[in-house]
Amino acid sequence: MSDRFWEKPLAALTRAEWEALCDGCGKCCLHKVEDADSGEIYPTNIACKLLDRHSCRCSHYRGRKAFVPDCVRLTADKVGALSWLPSTCAYRLRAAGKPLPDWHYLISGDRESVHAAGMSVRGWTVAEDEAGDIEHHLVDRDL
Ligand code: SF4
Ligand code: SF4
Repeated sequence: MSDRFWEKPLAALTRAEWEALCDGCGKCCLHKVEDADSGEIYPTNIACKLLDRHSCRCSHYRGRKAFVPDCVRLTADKVGALSWLPSTCAYRLRAAGKPLPDWHYLISGDRESVHAAGMSVRGWTVAEDEAGDIEHHLVDRDL
């Protein structure tokens, strides 16, 4: 990976650099609810069944599509159009030409920074098989 690769345009990243850009927040792995009238998409605190709710990482990343067929694979082309991506998402920030935040591990050098800063889903999600009615799990916070 090249020096300070996270400052390159998304389209110029190698596959390894692309994967390494993820901050490990886990916010994109929460179930979402779409308002039938407005089309707005709202996050819930229900974690995808493959999300490790402590590490906030996918427990079966390479083979995830076999278990979660609708898991979205991010690409440089798609990022700008995905309104449900959290405002803190590293891909979203870089697509907009913004720098990574101080708590991103590529800046801090520590994978725990995202959790310590309260920017991940650690500690406030429920498992999907324990959640019950999804309408009761809408998240009242800015992601
Ligand atoms: S399959 Fe993995 S990457 Fe996809 S939403 Fe679930 S936990 Fe996240
Ligand atoms: S929201 Fe973005 S940075 Fe956070 S885990 Fe998902 S893809 Fe990675």
